[in-house]
Amino acid sequence: MDTLSPSERSARMASVHSTDTEPERKLRSLLHKLGYRFTLHRRDLPGSPDIVLPKYSCVIFVHGCYWHGHSRCKAGVLPKSNIAFWRRKIQMNKKRDKRVETALRHAGWRVLVAWECQIRELEHITARLRFFLSKPL
Ligand SMILES: [Zn+2]
Repeated sequence: MDTLSPSERSARMASVHSTDTEPERKLRSLLHKLGYRFTLHRRDLPGSPDIVLPKYSCVIFVHGCYWHGHSRCKAGVLPKSNIAFWRRKIQMNKKRDKRVETALRHAGWRVLVAWECQIRELEHITARLRFFLSKPL
């Protein structure tokens, strides 16, 4: 069932390309607490990654579950109306995400995708960040 009201849906639409979403702020403050240094929205890198940790050659993307089509996720469920339109739009986002990831990997970056729903699980995301950033370069 499509549980979003029209105003909620347009809020989500507005946030698709926004650069300062709530999950992103949450992740940034978590990284900060853990003592990691990072820069934001490096436009010189493919996809302008949300968070870049140059010292670790790591980039982090914070993906909204809906817009980036998080599979097997409640928040990634498509609306019941206009389904073909949304499906195509989200498929295009996913394709772009894949292209960007590949380009970054080829340029020597490690890529972590932090999904919106995962950032809510503080312990889980903390463990994941620690693991991701502890691997040798
Ligand atoms: Zn999700």
